[in-house]
Amino acid sequence: MPVRRTLTDLVARVVAPEPPERDVDLVARVEALEAAKAKLEKRVSMAMGALQAATAQLMAAKQDAASATNEAKQAMQRATSALAAAEAAADGVSALEDARPAPAARPAAATGCTVADCDGTHRARGYCARHYQQWKRGTLPKA
Ligand SMILES: [Zn+2]
Repeated sequence: MPVRRTLTDLVARVVAPEPPERDVDLVARVEALEAAKAKLEKRVSMAMGALQAATAQLMAAKQDAASATNEAKQAMQRATSALAAAEAAADGVSALEDARPAPAARPAAATGCTVADCDGTHRARGYCARHYQQWKRGTLPKA
């Protein structure tokens, strides 16, 4: 009977289906895994896209910062040379003021009497009428 027994076993093995639930379960799990994988791949590709966009924005921001730095440097240089020009102009103004004759030393014709503390109107030789008379008489007090 060993032969018959073996045959029966064989038939039983071939005919007996594998537990169907297990197959279905496996297929479902594989499908679920593939769906999860597809979702993950989609998320990864979205993340990559976001990363690329962020990288591009970062590069643009870097360039903006670089040109802003350049502009700031140029503005600084312009301000520095403007300051130097202003200082030179101020020096020129004070040099002019130094070079300008003091009001008392100026010819008195336009202003008045050159005698200290005299507000008299100019008459002749840098004096008002009264001091001109004193000068003519030689009685003008020497300063
Ligand atoms: Zn006078």
